[in-house]
Amino acid sequence: MSVITSTWVERDGLLRSPLLERYHVVAGFTTRAQGSMAGSVFPLDEQERNRQRLARGLGFDAIARVRQVHGNTVVRLDRAVEPWPEGDAMWTDRTGVLLGIAAADCVPILLVDPASGRVGAAHAGWQGTRLRVAQALVRALVGAGSRTSGIVASIGPSIGPCCYAIDGARAELVAASGQGAYLHERPDGATVFDLWSANVAQLRDLGVESIEVSRICTLSGGHDLWSYRGRGADGRYGTQLGFIGRLGTA
Ligand SMILES: [Zn+2]
Repeated sequence: MSVITSTWVERDGLLRSPLLERYHVVAGFTTRAQGSMAGSVFPLDEQERNRQRLARGLGFDAIARVRQVHGNTVVRLDRAVEPWPEGDAMWTDRTGVLLGIAAADCVPILLVDPASGRVGAAHAGWQGTRLRVAQALVRALVGAGSRTSGIVASIGPSIGPCCYAIDGARAELVAASGQGAYLHERPDGATVFDLWSANVAQLRDLGVESIEVSRICTLSGGHDLWSYRGRGADGRYGTQLGFIGRLGTA
């Protein structure tokens, strides 16, 4: 078992996963440099153009999306479909399909099974982590024939344990899900939820052996990222996209 802490590298304004790139996938996280990808306060057509520009720049035709609802439903997507199916995780075994997860503090979790070429992406905020969406995604890959020990996972930029204070009601729900070990009291008395460690544990518990944690906080991590918690007084914030796909024709 190896948990690798490797800060993702910024290249052309995109944050890239050094671990996943070793397996010949296109994988990373956008920054403000590419514009908002899915926030609720930017014009939808502008965001669609931003997503198209991102897809084309990475060598894909379009980005396969799901309508994220902070749940744990996993969808298989072999192409970009409209309307987006409801779900918070998706996977494909096709080349030429770029999966895109929207996040502006929630955790983008990207997976590849190099043996089969299957790739997956999940959206895990406090709700998705509580509901173990990362495990649901791993189980979907295993159901399709992957071995958990062969899956390589990367936990992308999200709000970190440095900043993610939650209220008592949420903390109780997290504890009730059996993940109270990842709630910590900060010196200022606030309860923080360590989403990174909780998701590492979920992956490890199912037998995923190679896990990378970017450890980049969207609020305090020093990169030019949007953060829902860090939104301005006007309430405006954009949303990044965590992405993963394999180039080629299906
Ligand atoms: Zn932070």
